[in-house]
Amino acid sequence: MNIPLKFNNRFVEQLPADSDKSSTPRQVFGACYSLVEPTKVAEPTVVGVSSEVASLIGLTEKDTRSRWFAETFVGNRVIDGMQPFAMCYGGHQFGHWAGQLGDGRAINLGEVVDVDGCNQTLQLKGAGLTPYSRTADGLAVLRSSIREFLCSEAMHHLGVPTTRALSIILTGEKVMRDMFYDGHPELEPGAVVCRVAPSFLRLGNYQLLAARQERTILKQLIDFTIRHDFPHLGEPCIEVYEQWFDEVCRRTADMVVHWMRVGFVHGVMNTDNISVLGLTIDYGPYGWLEGYDPHWTPNTTDSEGRRYSFGNQPKVAQWNLYQFANAIALIIERTENLEKSINQFASYYEEKSQKMYAGKLGWENHQGDSDQKLISELFEILCLAETDMTIFFRLLSQFKSTKNYTDEELFQTVEPAYYNLTALDESTRKKVINWLKKYFERIQQQNLDDESRRAIMNAVNPKYVLRNYLTQVAIDKATKGDFSEVEKLLTIMQNPYDEQPEYEDYNKKRPEWARFKAGCSM
Ligand code: AMP
Ligand code: MG
Ligand code: MG
Repeated sequence: MNIPLKFNNRFVEQLPADSDKSSTPRQVFGACYSLVEPTKVAEPTVVGVSSEVASLIGLTEKDTRSRWFAETFVGNRVIDGMQPFAMCYGGHQFGHWAGQLGDGRAINLGEVVDVDGCNQTLQLKGAGLTPYSRTADGLAVLRSSIREFLCSEAMHHLGVPTTRALSIILTGEKVMRDMFYDGHPELEPGAVVCRVAPSFLRLGNYQLLAARQERTILKQLIDFTIRHDFPHLGEPCIEVYEQWFDEVCRRTADMVVHWMRVGFVHGVMNTDNISVLGLTIDYGPYGWLEGYDPHWTPNTTDSEGRRYSFGNQPKVAQWNLYQFANAIALIIERTENLEKSINQFASYYEEKSQKMYAGKLGWENHQGDSDQKLISELFEILCLAETDMTIFFRLLSQFKSTKNYTDEELFQTVEPAYYNLTALDESTRKKVINWLKKYFERIQQQNLDDESRRAIMNAVNPKYVLRNYLTQVAIDKATKGDFSEVEKLLTIMQNPYDEQPEYEDYNKKRPEWARFKAGCSM
């Protein structure tokens, strides 16, 4: 049997390892990772495969259907060249330093070179205990695994920087989770997702080394990151460290602008869940905005005044970067340039965000204050009554700039975005119509035909997003052994900006029975 995967394990080969080989939970000092072994499971059953990610790492359809694929990506088989390891990192959780966290249920199998010549790390989530599992079990359940598998692929196709997912495989074993019914703990099917990314390094990897004053290793890790993931910056030196930090800030801002564009709420933006590459990472209690609401968070444990709500994401990103700056300051004597990058975060974010909204509204460019006012007013009217964000923006592209609209016709264009029309009072309707009038004038002023405007808008306003209830339906079916809905959602989300008439039902407003219940993170 020829397994077409060649490993090139730079992380393990170039950075210091923990000398202890056991999986006993412990504090790991003086190391970036621990070598570990995935736990073998009873009976792997493939639930879903992203054929695109498979092709990216050089696997054929036939490979993904073979026995070795299921055995390898559930963690039962360590193939030649793999050196499985768990990373050591710390982080700020909900604003407080939490000390060592680490890959408690993630195991990196190794790095492969993809068809484009880039390194990709293959990482199993839910493959058993590591030294970083603390008091938990190192496992993942089908429910959270489907959420991660589908969302990371959906985000990629929406054009949002993200880690990707190769596969989701049932383990054939039950996992105990603390969803209590009738006083009994619930046993749920266990599953393993194989995630794929150039690197899974988080801000917390650098923070932990700094917190422990492990200066030499911190420098080694930073140099490693720059050489392999930011090679365009040149050989590491103080100036390059500063440029690197500035680029991490910009990439993080770009990522958050994308989240705001598509209505994604990460839900646990702890510094251990923020990638140094500016990729969306760790799909836990995330959620998608249905009704537009900047205060909404999918995370029920977010007791600190909705720290991780939709509208707070840019601010929290900046706060996280500030903690990251504090960490790398250990190897940089003068920190003025780090401070400068942090301070520029807000204006850089603002600039990118304005461009993003100009695209969503079909404007050729953002014309400063008057446009900004129109955008602020839009946020206000979106909050007046429950308005589906995705549907609203998509409908805005339908205006015909040559037509003479009555007030009622203007409103009818966006009417399908409202959840409860009967609750929409006269004054709210008037405010919406007023805004639409101004918006309509604004698009008439520019020299852009309707078709071109629509093309700009439809390329950034998705028709389909991974609505929370759609995933829940796929989970319910998969739990009964029917994986077809997982596959269907994967297919639909591969073309989120296209009209897909056969899947018209999948861009509908959330039905009332499915009003989002948070807390699906475990
Ligand atoms: P999270 O908030 O999901 O990113 O997790 C925070 C920390 O808890 C990380 O170190 C995770 O590896 C760890 N963790 C979460 N769930 C488990 C689990 N089931 N078993 C072991 N460690 C876990
Ligand atoms: Mg995490
Ligand atoms: Mg998590």
